[in-house]
Amino acid sequence: MEKALKQEFFDGDQFWRREGKTARLNPVKSIRAFCLQCVAGQRKEVELCPSVDTCPLWPFRFGTNPFHTKVFSEETKEKHRRHLQSMRNSRDNKDKV
Ligand code: SF4
Repeated sequence: MEKALKQEFFDGDQFWRREGKTARLNPVKSIRAFCLQCVAGQRKEVELCPSVDTCPLWPFRFGTNPFHTKVFSEETKEKHRRHLQSMRNSRDNKDKV
């Protein structure tokens, strides 16, 4: 537990700091980080959190949005894959310059 607290912490402003590095988190990942901090870094305790009726963050505690249930067709998935690949390629090309 102490090790997790030393290495990782959530600063309350969508930033996650770990071993000297800082990352900006999206809102649901921020909630996950907040929940981990709420229970002193114990992942199992986040899973077992009893605050179903009292904490508004409870549905999001695993870092996902359970109300976001968009189902994509294979065609749309392929389109997204190609788009992501082109974004990665352009990023890699920028790094080389
Ligand atoms: S759901 Fe609420 S009470 Fe439970 S761990 Fe997250 S912040 Fe804490």
